[in-house]
Order: sequence, then structure tokens, then C-alpha cells
Amino acid sequence: MNAACTYLTHLLLPDFGDWRPILSVYYLTYACDFRCPYCSDGSGTPYFRLRSPVLPADRVMDLFGIIRRHCGYLVITGGEPLQHPEYAEILNRLPALRFRGVVLTTNGYLLDQALPAVTRSVTELVVSLQTLDSTKADIEYGRPGAHQRILANIELAANHPGRKYSIIISCVATPENLGDLHGVYQYARHRGFRLAVCPQLVGVKAHHALENNGEYREFFDFLIARKNEGALIQGTVDYLEYLRDLKKFKCRPFTMLVVAPTGEVCYPCLELGHHAGNLLDEPDLHRIRRSGFRRFGPQPDCGTQCHSACALGFARILANPLSILREGVLMASIKTSRAATPAVSFDSNPRR
Ligand code: SF4
Ligand code: SF4
Repeated sequence: MNAACTYLTHLLLPDFGDWRPILSVYYLTYACDFRCPYCSDGSGTPYFRLRSPVLPADRVMDLFGIIRRHCGYLVITGGEPLQHPEYAEILNRLPALRFRGVVLTTNGYLLDQALPAVTRSVTELVVSLQTLDSTKADIEYGRPGAHQRILANIELAANHPGRKYSIIISCVATPENLGDLHGVYQYARHRGFRLAVCPQLVGVKAHHALENNGEYREFFDFLIARKNEGALIQGTVDYLEYLRDLKKFKCRPFTMLVVAPTGEVCYPCLELGHHAGNLLDEPDLHRIRRSGFRRFGPQPDCGTQCHSACALGFARILANPLSILREGVLMASIKTSRAATPAVSFDSNPRR
């Protein structure tokens, strides 16, 4: 089933008993040498503190083969996925599975050595960047010189021969970097990268200092205005409004499949932390959903929480299908205008 049919299934049959993910997310490793203060899983634990064995490349490929039977789109994340000891072999073997899209998220520090494998297998490269202030960033990463190296690696990635991936700059808005966000926007815009901004989550909740924060809201108003003008901003306008207002939404966790490093399936989502079965032992995801239902109950009705790209993004395109149509029209108009004007433009106004 392709993504459009899967989307329609979720739209028209919301209580469908099978598990038909639109997107799968695999945590290749939780390990990460950085120490970002905003790093947090659904329980508030930083990923680098989670302890989990990693699978060898052969087993990861077995797991990806099973995931591929259920879903055409794969996100490889972490931790820092490029700290998996066999990440290059895994990425090099991935094209054989013919995923329709492969997203790799990374902090960018090891990206230079990974580029040949990334070029072979990845369609969207997501690099995290919170500020252009290297001193501030290095203190947050806990690693002197890291920020400059990451910026250099992004340039290498942008200019890598045979590049097929698009580059997305992923930015976490925290109470500490609100004054840096316009600079990150400018950085992405000038290089023709898409920008994705999400609020810092502490556990499942947006950081309390972002709620009703005028500077935070103003930045999302700015993003929405630029989006409507054709800037490359991740997410629909409706989604960006929910991020700005940090409003409650009806989550649809079965639009995604989230898999821990060892192959355990998170039920119904990473945030709730239940494991319903291991795909390497039980490759039938529908059976895993039924087992999860028996052990942990149905999809929960959660509070005002989880304003993340996947949870909120899928929830809103299902609650407001017209927002996708609007996004499609916007994208078509961007393509048309980019065909007529240079793709990269420099703007002297630092607020745009
Ligand atoms: S780079 Fe990512 S995984 Fe590593 S500490 Fe920072 S937020 Fe956590
Ligand atoms: S809001 Fe969604 S992602 Fe968050 S805990 Fe609830 S079901 Fe999971």
C-alpha cells in the first residue's frame, strides 16, 4: 500500500485494527557523545543516558527488511546514528530494500566521513542546529570546536558530488535560544535548505517557559508569514499554528512505527515507553498491535503534549486534510517561482 492509500485508510477508518504506518522510525543507537541540555525522551531522560545494545549490521538489515514490508518510508535516528559502529555498511546496503524515502537525522559531527554512504542511501538529511553562536553551541554540546566542525560538514554535505538528498536544518526552540532562531532561519534560507523548528520538549510537554512566551510566538508568526511567501519551512501552516499555540491535538500514534535499537516495537509510541513485541521475533506488525492492545490498552486520549514533528504533523493532516491540499498548492507555486528566479537569494533584512 502506498503512502496516499495508507493516509486514506487512517482518514476514513480511524479505528482500523491493523497497524499500517505511514512512516517508520528506527533508533539505530541511543549513544551520543554530545550532552545537549534539551535532550529528552518521553520520560525526560536524555537519550545518551539510555542503555541499549545495538544490533550488528546483518540484524539491522533483517529488521529493515521486515519494516519495509509494512512501510515505504524510514527515518534512521538516535542518539547519534553515526555512532553505530557499522552505520556505513548499513547505509550502503539500504538501497537494496528500495525504501521510497530514507531520512537520516544527525548532529552533523561525524557527517564528513559518512557522506559517501549517505549519498548512496539517504533522500533527506536532517542536521540539528540551534544557534549560529559557536561558543554557546559548544558549551551546550559539551565539546569544544564541535559547532564549527558541524557547519563545515554541512557545507561538505551540500557540495558533495552526486548528492541526491535534500538538506533539512532541524532546530529546537528552547527558552535559551529564542534570540538565535532568526539567525538559523537566515542560515537555512541562504543555502536553500528547508528549516524545521520544534519546541523543546521536557518529557512529553513543551518547556513551560515557552508557553505564552511572546518571543516564541512571534517567531512562529514570522515562520508562518515566510511560509506563506514561499520559504522552505517544514510543515503545513496549520501545523505551525499548533506549534505556536501549543494547543492540544488528537494524536494518531498508529500512523507511525517506532522501533528501539534491538527491534522492540514501541506501543503505541516512543513516549509511552511500552514495548509490544520484537519485530525480529514477530514480523507481523498487525499481531504486535493486537498484543499491545491486550497488554496496554487502546490508543490513549492524551493531554496537551507531544508537539513534535511526527506526532503533531500526522495528527493535523488527518484532522485537517485541507491543510495538505493548501501545502500542495503552496509547494507548486514555490516550484513555479523558483523556475523563474534564482534558487538561492540573499536578503539584507536579518528578520526575514
Ligand atoms: S545531539 Fe541529539 S541525541 Fe545527542 S545529546 Fe544532543 S539532542 Fe541528544
Ligand atoms: S500524545 Fe501521542 S505521541 Fe504523545 S504520548 Fe500520547 S499517543 Fe504518544
